[in-house]
Amino acid sequence: MNAAEFPAREAMEFDVVIVGAGPAGLAAAIKLKQIAPETSVVVVEKGSEVGAHILSGAVIDPIGLDRLVPEWRNEEAPVRTEVTSDRFYVLGPSGAVRLPNILLPPLMSNHGNFIVSLGDVCRHLAQKAEALGVEIYPGFAAAELLFEGNAVTGIATGDMGIGKDGHHKAAFARGMELRAKYTLFAEGARGSLSKILIERFGLAQGRQPQKYGIGLKELWQVAPEKFHSGLVQHTMGWPLDNSTGGGSFLYHFGDRLVAVGFVVHLNYQNPYLSPFDEFQRFKTHPLVRDTFSNGKRICYGARALTEGGWQSVPNLAFSGGALIGCAAGFMNVPRIKGSHNAILSGMLAAENVAAALQAGRAHDELASYDAAWRGSPIGRDLWRVRNAKPLWSKLGTLAGLALGGADMWTNTLGFSFLGTLSHGKPDYASLKPAADCRPVAYPKPDGKLTFDRLSSVYLSNTNHEEDQPAHLVVRDTALQKSSEHDVYGGPSARYCPAGVYEWVEEAGNPRYVINAQNCVHCKTCDIKDPNQNINWVPPEGAGGPNYPNM
Ligand SMILES: Cc1cc2nc3c(=O)[nH]c(=O)nc-3n(C[C@H](O)[C@H](O)[C@H](O)COP(=O)(O)OP(=O)(O)OC[C@H]3O[C@@H](n4cnc5c(N)ncnc54)[C@H](O)[C@@H]3O)c2cc1C
Ligand code: SF4
Repeated sequence: MNAAEFPAREAMEFDVVIVGAGPAGLAAAIKLKQIAPETSVVVVEKGSEVGAHILSGAVIDPIGLDRLVPEWRNEEAPVRTEVTSDRFYVLGPSGAVRLPNILLPPLMSNHGNFIVSLGDVCRHLAQKAEALGVEIYPGFAAAELLFEGNAVTGIATGDMGIGKDGHHKAAFARGMELRAKYTLFAEGARGSLSKILIERFGLAQGRQPQKYGIGLKELWQVAPEKFHSGLVQHTMGWPLDNSTGGGSFLYHFGDRLVAVGFVVHLNYQNPYLSPFDEFQRFKTHPLVRDTFSNGKRICYGARALTEGGWQSVPNLAFSGGALIGCAAGFMNVPRIKGSHNAILSGMLAAENVAAALQAGRAHDELASYDAAWRGSPIGRDLWRVRNAKPLWSKLGTLAGLALGGADMWTNTLGFSFLGTLSHGKPDYASLKPAADCRPVAYPKPDGKLTFDRLSSVYLSNTNHEEDQPAHLVVRDTALQKSSEHDVYGGPSARYCPAGVYEWVEEAGNPRYVINAQNCVHCKTCDIKDPNQNINWVPPEGAGGPNYPNM
């Protein structure tokens, strides 16, 4: 049966459909119900439960929660560990230089912030949303946009029970059409539908290209003597060279938990670089390795994050809907924080949607939302740090750190000598041909402190129905061989944090193998493939990682 012969989809009508139950989507849902309890709101989430696909640091700036649900401070919210100590180091291969806190711009301070599992915070927000009457459908991916003319009128969830070859299995069920007066896209970094919307409505015209990083994270339970509740530690430098951007985070919270993570900026040039192996190597540095002795690694995962900031935020509104949270790119990179802006943007969009509904409008452009963000706390947060990422990219880590820091200081005082710097080319265009680069030799994992990809993916509890159409769509397989493999040396085998891509030599012919069932939905392949030849589309709902508390 081809798609045209499928039975018709059932449809449901709502005032507002929200795609994604992260902090942005849940904040929008809660705010809508707070303003206008009679509004019908539904949230679809591709994870098997709320939080299953949420991966963050996370040290959160409570400005978002304070405005959305101020009562959280008197409740049993999963926001319990206040930051007590804040350290920033520049690493060399065996040493570390700590930058005194007094030198750091005040906006970098973590005083008053909290260390959390963002997944747990989302679960808590989901309960609040449901208590207000929001319908939440976990296990359903929004796979298709619905249009009437040029206006978005909702989404359709993916069909279930289709085999790899397109045949209908016994469990075949058509997706649902969820129609709405307004649809908010809260898919996080590199959302699959948001990407289509940005393209179709030309939302990024006149903006700098969006920039990205890949963030890899492990959760450890450490020995009691290694645990320092409330300690927040960031580094830049080793093991990355001066021309490769990125850094680490290490947060002590909860019951002897340490969240350790490593971000590599995706404008790196050497196709031999492996962000996963850089992360493993980072943990062996004398500054941090001792933290993990006699500890237990309990979870692993990875996720892309947006880094373009102020210059790269697209137009947020189009007929029938809007982008919110990291789907819009509201991450503050030097602070490594985006969840507060995700919440604030969800609230801002909700206020504008509520006003539009009250005025009897539907399916038009929420221009007032787009007009409002630059003058809001989100705009102020991103404006002051707008030159940090371009300076790191142009000058390298050390000089970029120094000048970026100085620029953040002057911006704090209300001015900048540099104006607004541009980002240059998109991340997929930054790789050099393999012939121009040196292979990187990574040490073998020891299985105690450092690990391989497969044993790591195991800890992400990733699960996909194996017999389903590919969700990693290689548009032109010949191009993948002639360019990705022959020119760039097959970087997908190294940038994918889950070992999904392999080039296997068969009788002298390289064959591209895609182990799609391991995919942790980080979206890096969609961003970094040098020819933009890989398209990430949602697999069957509920597939992907099952992060317990990342
Ligand atoms: C490694 C790392 C460390 C970070 N550290 C911090 C930190 O310390 N502090 C901080 O404030 N921020 C941090 N951030 C950023 C922060 O996590 C994001 O800014 C925040 O999660 C963005 O929220 P969001 O709701 O926009 O998107 P997300 O949190 O990404 O949530 C999007 C949700 O939408 C769902 N979804 C996506 N597409 C679909 C679809 N088509 N159909 C159905 N559901 C869909 C996803 O499964 C997910 O649940 C970090 C990010 C990373 C990757
Ligand atoms: S296949 Fe792509 S989205 Fe999935 S884990 Fe690998 S790089 Fe990330």
